[in-house]
Amino acid sequence: MAKKKTAEKKIPLSEKNIQQGIALHNNISLLRAMYVSLELQDNSKMDKNCAAYVDSRYSTRWHGEEARVFLNRNFLLTPEEWVFTIAHCELHLAFGHFDAEKIPANCDLRLWNIACDIYVTKFLVEAKFGTPRCSLELYTGPTKDELSIYEYLQEHRELCDKFYFGTAAPHIPDMKNLDRPLSYPMGEQNYFAVRFAEALAQSVSRVV
Ligand SMILES: [Zn+2]
Repeated sequence: MAKKKTAEKKIPLSEKNIQQGIALHNNISLLRAMYVSLELQDNSKMDKNCAAYVDSRYSTRWHGEEARVFLNRNFLLTPEEWVFTIAHCELHLAFGHFDAEKIPANCDLRLWNIACDIYVTKFLVEAKFGTPRCSLELYTGPTKDELSIYEYLQEHRELCDKFYFGTAAPHIPDMKNLDRPLSYPMGEQNYFAVRFAEALAQSVSRVV
């Protein structure tokens, strides 16, 4: 028996936590309803300082480009921090942060990413989905929408060194392919936004 015990492979805490985080995430209907593809990777494929990022145009073998969220299974977060992190990446898609019609003209994409990080963080803190890794109190500017935050940051660039609300690392954007904004053919829409709006409407109607 003792021999069998030593032969059992010990599951690292980072792996246990990420699996628990995904399970908790899947229990939140509003998040599950977006149907975003999640892919687990390890330190051999992701920067070890990066917990997660979202790629709006991940190139797949059979289906062309699709949005996908990548999670670093070697990165140690609590399960609740994983819920927050996964939801953060998904909401970049559902809030249209990659969409050509939403991104300001002549955009500073690094600053836009930071503005969107702040907006998503505010939403998740208010919705009480998981646990943030950076306190929103560190940012004292407007939070009405992404554009108002972006315009404020343009005038207060020094603030960007005082906090990090993204899910990757300060030197790595957590929105990949932001330089190739998404636009939709006539009659089509951002379906992550549509699914999220429908799920939100359903959850509100259940409460009322
Ligand atoms: Zn982000």
